[in-house]
Formats: sequence, C-alpha cells, structure tokens
Amino acid sequence: MGKGSSIAVIGGGIAGLTTGLALQEKGYHVTIFERGNSPMDQASGNPAGILDPSLTSPESLEGQFYHAAMSRALEFYSSLGRQVFLSRGLLKFTRDSSDDNLYFPDSGTISPPKIRDILSQKLRIRNNVTITSFTHTQKWHLFAGGKPLATADAIVICGGPETRYFSPADHLPLEPVRGQITFLNADKYAPFPRKTLCGKGYITPPFEMNGQTTMVTGASFSRNDTDLSLREDDHRENLENAEILWPGIGKREITGGRCAIRAYSPDHMPICGPIADQKQYLAAYEMLKHGPKHQIFIPAPYVPNLYAVTGLGARGFLSAPLLGELITALICGDPLPVTQAVYESLHPARFLIRALKKGQ
Ligand SMILES: Cc1cc2nc3c(=O)[nH]c(=O)nc-3n(C[C@H](O)[C@H](O)[C@H](O)COP(=O)(O)OP(=O)(O)OC[C@H]3O[C@@H](n4cnc5c(N)ncnc54)[C@H](O)[C@@H]3O)c2cc1C
Repeated sequence: MGKGSSIAVIGGGIAGLTTGLALQEKGYHVTIFERGNSPMDQASGNPAGILDPSLTSPESLEGQFYHAAMSRALEFYSSLGRQVFLSRGLLKFTRDSSDDNLYFPDSGTISPPKIRDILSQKLRIRNNVTITSFTHTQKWHLFAGGKPLATADAIVICGGPETRYFSPADHLPLEPVRGQITFLNADKYAPFPRKTLCGKGYITPPFEMNGQTTMVTGASFSRNDTDLSLREDDHRENLENAEILWPGIGKREITGGRCAIRAYSPDHMPICGPIADQKQYLAAYEMLKHGPKHQIFIPAPYVPNLYAVTGLGARGFLSAPLLGELITALICGDPLPVTQAVYESLHPARFLIRALKKGQ
C-alpha cells in the first residue's frame, strides 16, 4: 500500500499504539479509534508491566518470536526515555528453589501510564469512539452507532478480545482470560526486592503510585471469565505465588488491585497479519484435508486491506513493538522483521489451515 494512504486502527491498547506509531513512521496517515476515555485503559492499563523473558527453546518458533520480541521491546521502550522503566533487572525463578534462577539485567518493570502519555503525544487518537461496523467499497467506511464516521484505505483491528466482534474477524479463536493484580503498601519498613522477581507470579520493586510507595504482584488467571470485580481469592492467589519469590511479602497491607481481560489464542501465540475471507479461504484450500500431496499454492483470498493484531496474552508489552513492526512491514511490502516461519506461526489464518488439515 502506497505511502500517504490512510489507515484506521481500531483499539488504543498497547498493540494499537505501537502499530499506529510504526505505520506513521513509514509515512501513513494513521487515526486510532479508542472506545474508552483514554488509550490504554483496558488490559494495557495496569500501573506496572513486567517484561517477562520467555524460556521456551530458541529452536521453537515461539522461542524465536519471543527472543526477537524482547530485543525489540527493550530497544523500543528505551527509545521513549529513561522514565519508562520503573526499574531495571529481572530475576527469573525457573523452579521453586533459587538454584536455577536466571538474571536479565536489561529487562524489568515498565510504566504503562508513562508509555501511554508519551505515545499519545505522537499519535492522532480519537477517544470515546466505539467502532460498531465497517464496509468496503473502494475504501473502508467506518461506522459508530450506525452513523458514518470516517473512511480509510486500510483497517488494522487491535481490539484485544473484542477483535472478533467484527464479522470478518469472527472466526479468530480468541479466548478472554481474566487477570487481577494486587497492590501492596511498600511504605512500611521491611526488606523489599530491588529487582523484579518473576516465577509463577511476579513482584515489582517499589515505585510511586498516586503518592504511595507501592509494589505490584500478580497476575491471576481465569479462563473464559470476563467479570471485572476485584476478588479476595485472586489477591490470595497472587500473594501465595509472591510468597515463593519473596518470603514474608504476604504480610504487607493490600492497598488495592486492578482487573482486566487478556486475549489468548489457542496456541498462546499472538495473531498478526491479514484477515482471510473465511468462506473463500476454506473453499480454496479444501483439498488440504487429503494430506500433504494435495497442498496447493494459489493466492489466498483475503478481505482487502484488513488486518488484525491481537491475542497478545500475558506478554503484550513484550510483543507489541515487534508486532507493530511486522504488520507495518506487511502493509508497506518491506522485508519482514521475523523469519517467514515465525510469521506463519503468528498468521491469523493458521487456525483455518489447521482445521482444514484435520478435515474439520
Ligand atoms: C492483570 C493483567 C496483568 C498483566 N501483566 C502484564 C505484564 O506484566 N507484562 C506484559 O507484557 N503483559 C501483561 N499483561 C498482558 C497485557 O496487558 C496485554 O497483553 C496487552 O495489554 C494487550 O494489549 P492490546 O492492545 O492487544 O489489548 P487492550 O489493551 O485490551 O486494548 C484493546 C483496546 O481496544 C479497544 N476497543 C475494543 N473494541 C473497540 C471498538 N469496537 N471500537 C473502539 N475501540 C475498541 C478497547 O477499549 C481497548 O482499549 C497483563 C494483563 C492483565 C489483564
């Protein structure tokens, strides 16, 4: 797509903002439409986010993706300024004992509110706008509450779990997973971790939040649960996991918490790329069910200029900068920032292909 074209990004979470910025830097006219009062107030709205390195084998596509994503994330957040890192250094507990811990000096805890403030300055974001539908006739026409709102040459849907609300994307197998974090009072004199600790749960070092020195621990994990009320049970679960990392932490006063919904794909890899025209796609590749000999190499039928970046799961801050670059490279035809195999492991149509191969 030619530079100077207009691109609408639906959703102003971290995926929407990194995508919007990468596209804008390539010369596209980007508008981000966000339903909330401000960007990054859903899953991306926690007061602290950790950059949790994946220990998956670098021989696997997942390991290769998260390794590349970590390098890109560290570069990206560092480029926004020192204030984006609440603390550097992350100690990863590989088991419940301290024998095999791994230390990542460049990783750590970042501040989503600071990232939001910096990126909001650079981007054109229309808050309080819920896109309810879009249709395509030469261009995309976006509607809010049934009324025409804007036109664009391309759309990237970055709506978290709600990406599949839009009919061309309703085949994406996204699962909502509720997560709750717990805020702990770090004012009181008692030993506290100076580095981010991460195992089954995590603990951030203390930082200033609304005038109070706070540590954050989390995050609970409830599949197919979209209730946003805070739960005592989830605080307890967070503290039990945190106690393994820092014995005694459970005695601290709980000062609050926050709950939000993550979007997961069945293979726990993000979803990034063009949206297939489901009906035509299934018809075109139907022969795949007869095995590898029946592989056909015809151009895949896609919905024109419609893309998605979603399914970022529990590592959205880690993966969003690389995904924003990948979708931008796809749109402008640049070399991809990941290998073809890694791209295919992120491709939105992989679930359709897998179902076809199984004869479903
Ligand atoms: C409790 C918890 C703790 C977490 N901790 C970490 C962590 O420490 N480190 C880490 O890397 N990740 C963490 N994550 C995961 C991370 O927050 C997510 O992966 C990431 O925020 C997903 O970003 P997103 O932009 O895809 O989705 P979201 O942040 O959910 O953004 C989607 C946006 O789209 C908007 N939207 C949806 N539909 C429409 C529409 N029709 N019109 C307009 N706007 C629309 C929504 O309002 C929303 O703002 C955590 C998640 C949770 C829930």
